Amino acid sequence: MWCTTSPESRPLLSSGSSFTSPPVPVDRNLREKEAVSQSFTTVSILGAGPAGLYAAILLRKGFPDASVVVHERNPQRATFGFGVVFSDRALDFMQSDVPELLDLIRPDMQQWSDMQLSLPTRDVKLDGVGFSAVGRMQLLSRLEQYAVSLGVKIKYESEISDIGELRTDLIIGADGIQSRVRDSDIETFQPALSYFNNHFAWFGVALPFETLTQTFIETNLGPMNAHHYRYSSSMSTFIVECEPRTWKAYGFDGMDERQSADTCGALFANTLKNTPLITNHSHWRRFPRLWCKRWVSGNRVLLGDAAHSAHFSIGSGTRLAMEDAIALVRAIREEKDLPSGLAAYERNRQPIAEKITNAANRSAEWYDAFAEKMKMPPLDFAKDYLMRSGRIDLPQLRKMAPQFMAEYDHRAR
Ligand SMILES: Cc1cc2nc3c(=O)[nH]c(=O)nc-3n(C[C@H](O)[C@H](O)[C@H](O)COP(=O)(O)OP(=O)(O)OC[C@H]3O[C@@H](n4cnc5c(N)ncnc54)[C@H](O)[C@@H]3O)c2cc1C
Repeated sequence: MWCTTSPESRPLLSSGSSFTSPPVPVDRNLREKEAVSQSFTTVSILGAGPAGLYAAILLRKGFPDASVVVHERNPQRATFGFGVVFSDRALDFMQSDVPELLDLIRPDMQQWSDMQLSLPTRDVKLDGVGFSAVGRMQLLSRLEQYAVSLGVKIKYESEISDIGELRTDLIIGADGIQSRVRDSDIETFQPALSYFNNHFAWFGVALPFETLTQTFIETNLGPMNAHHYRYSSSMSTFIVECEPRTWKAYGFDGMDERQSADTCGALFANTLKNTPLITNHSHWRRFPRLWCKRWVSGNRVLLGDAAHSAHFSIGSGTRLAMEDAIALVRAIREEKDLPSGLAAYERNRQPIAEKITNAANRSAEWYDAFAEKMKMPPLDFAKDYLMRSGRIDLPQLRKMAPQFMAEYDHRAR
């Protein structure tokens, strides 16, 4: 199962790769470490999402002798959703491990330093709330190209239904919220899964919004909200959400994707400037609240959404998934053997991820109550919004959003 690595023995750029960037040198520190540490020979990764692809990249960089195969149930270039947004540090965490990959992704990214709340009575600008965004497809394509260039084998349309059939030394469950790896040992992983109340649907639109905006509207059948931001020079994400009774009242439960898109398009016609919404697996869903007590079972380990969920309103699920991959590979590198590495990953990573998922859960709870909160005066609503995840107190908010707070304080006087 274990073998000593010899980093020089394997070319980093596979001959069949279509990736055109120069070969990536192995990190010098890694080489030194590998001279004294051990590696594994075979790894199966379920899922070519951000967690799976990033783990594959880091494993091939850290353990060039390991054979890493990613199984993805979907065809190549088929994924759900549109753009994803990242709060504050965006993808800067990639800087230390794969700066060249970050350089490839950066040009695809959109960035802005303020956001906007669009309320029925007025708009409120929230300064200092910086975000960046990228198309999920663009991100996955870059990760995929880079992974292949390092010798990762990605098998598309390869759905693994029986984990027991995999005979590799390490099995990584990066297979998202419906994880089969997690299901393969519920007693050990102990997932706690429930769902938030609101219904949401993830659309796109060929309209580049100026900044990340939360639009809250009153409609005849109840309040509705849209999270929207551009993720390329021509495209934006447009996520619509509402509480269950509004969702029922519109009959969204009986509509197909196109009908839902047209209905939401009509309701948000002003915001959308009558541009039609685009669908891509844009079914109505309720966001899951998932936390697994354990992330390791024997040689099986969970990453990203397979282990925990983070509501999209704090823009952290993708980053969390990729940072899990960093934590996993680091732990395997630093410990004396694979079991100790997996144990260290769970021990060290869980408290960090838990803090973020707790903040995301509080944010999701805020959205579940947004219809009621819309009765607040706009500036109170905005302040409540900014403090919803419990991560910042008032002095921090004053530092972060001085212009908004000046307006808030002026109004309060
Ligand atoms: C509406 C919405 C908006 C979001 N917005 C943001 C955002 O703005 N910012 C952000 O950071 N995050 C956002 N997220 C969250 C983000 O999408 C996830 O947290 C992130 O994709 C998790 O990555 P992952 O690799 O763990 O899982 P996934 O991206 O779900 O990837 C899992 C992969 O595994 C594959 N798979 C599943 N089962 C199998 C199997 N048995 N065999 C083979 N393959 C399998 C799936 O096809 C999939 O490709 C959003 C999520 C939603 C629903």
